[in-house]
Amino acid sequence: MKNTNERLKNIVEPDFNRREFLRFATSIGLLSLLGTQEANAFSSKAQGKIVIIGGGAAGMSMAARLNKWLKEPDITLIDPSDRQYYQPGFTLIASGVYDPEDVWKKQESFIPKGVKWVKDSVVAVDPIKNKVATAKSGEIGYDFLVLTPGLQLNWDRVEGISYNSLGEGNAHCMYDFEGAQKTWKAIQEFAKTGGKGLYTDTHTKHKCGGAPKKICLLTEHYARKQKARDNISLNFYTASKELYDVPYFTPRLLEIYGEREIPINLNVKLKGIDTASKVAHFEKIETIGEEKIATPFTESYDFMHFLPPMSAPDFIREAGLGWTEGKFANENWVMVDKETFVHKNYANIISLGDCSDLPTSKTSAAIRMQVPLAAKNLISLMEGKEPVEKYNGYAACPIVTDYGHVLMCEFDYKKERLSSFPFSMMDMSKESRLAWLLKVYILKPLFFHGMLRGRS
Ligand SMILES: Cc1cc2nc3c(=O)[nH]c(=O)nc-3n(C[C@H](O)[C@H](O)[C@H](O)COP(=O)(O)OP(=O)(O)OC[C@H]3O[C@@H](n4cnc5c(N)ncnc54)[C@H](O)[C@@H]3O)c2cc1C
Repeated sequence: MKNTNERLKNIVEPDFNRREFLRFATSIGLLSLLGTQEANAFSSKAQGKIVIIGGGAAGMSMAARLNKWLKEPDITLIDPSDRQYYQPGFTLIASGVYDPEDVWKKQESFIPKGVKWVKDSVVAVDPIKNKVATAKSGEIGYDFLVLTPGLQLNWDRVEGISYNSLGEGNAHCMYDFEGAQKTWKAIQEFAKTGGKGLYTDTHTKHKCGGAPKKICLLTEHYARKQKARDNISLNFYTASKELYDVPYFTPRLLEIYGEREIPINLNVKLKGIDTASKVAHFEKIETIGEEKIATPFTESYDFMHFLPPMSAPDFIREAGLGWTEGKFANENWVMVDKETFVHKNYANIISLGDCSDLPTSKTSAAIRMQVPLAAKNLISLMEGKEPVEKYNGYAACPIVTDYGHVLMCEFDYKKERLSSFPFSMMDMSKESRLAWLLKVYILKPLFFHGMLRGRS
């Protein structure tokens, strides 16, 4: 926390009220204590071999929960990564609030005692024969499968740029650990040299829908603090038909973009980036009757932040576990029941987190709510019972509106506003300082020390 405050002082003078923070931290601490008690108050003698594919936010939390709740757990976790990343921190690296070292820990420190970790990648799943194939460790059979490999960033689907050339032509993306670090360097430089900044999302479902909007607003505030706002223009492009689709929060977000003089361009799809001449290629999509009409256009830029299209990992499609037709055919998200997480075709497979087709926001905040329900439902399946726990689509997206404020968007499947943090006395349709404190100082330790360790 000390380092974060020091870094922040170089950007904005944080009006840091220790008493305000301590009061807030105490209420969060009490909630965590209750969460730990709740997490310990359940157990089952159910048996069966569980294989978990992917040990990120969802997979590791599932491993921890199931290991806690099953009296005789038999759990194998397959994941090739040495590191556990706190990805929501990537935005804070890209805006200079966090140091890169703040957002990751060694994967081995999270593997629950007794859980077998196969440090490898899954390359195929055979849901008929109940086995998975790995790159180096052969085949592994299962009785029950938890599918949590996250999503795939399809860099090659933006013409003119690839993962390896990320940053070339000053085109950046903080959805990657190195990319986030390059983004921060480039934003500081952009404020000095000035020019035109373009910010885009992508036309597929993507993790943290708020992130592209946050980095745009943070650039604007950073430039203002550096007394360089007049040197830069900022433009936001979204493939969606509105800036944000949760009505309780949209008016204030639109107002903020208006106040900051950042034009919003709707229904625009990024096609490619000519990094040599710093020109972005877009398509404006108009729907006339049943027909969609795409009109190409280009924009030159000096700094650009973009998102690549996203999908479930390829092995999901190849195993026939994802969508093969309809609007998600290209993205092949895993088909699950949106309340119970059970696969639509295979009753011994559960999926949650980013790779699933759950029609809510792809965030680790959503996963925080999904995990205890999914773990209980899996245990019911192991006991030969119907899964009864029902997920209401809870998701949260803390939209950082400047260095010091966050619009804490929490909502359900119906896009109705919810509140899970101790904010109920406040007007949550506006950005707040308390939500900033939560975002910068509390959520990361809750992730590493609470959620990933099987606590609520
Ligand atoms: C820039 C950015 C900002 C964000 N901001 C927020 C925010 O403010 N709030 C919020 O709640 N969420 C935020 N998120 C989203 C959040 O980080 C994700 O929703 C969450 O990490 C998804 O968890 P997951 O377990 O589904 O996938 P991941 O956490 O990505 O984990 C997937 C795991 O699967 C493993 N894996 C992949 N392929 C295979 C394979 N073939 N075999 C075995 N293992 C495999 C990977 O190594 C990884 O460990 C943000 C994300 C980004 C990138």
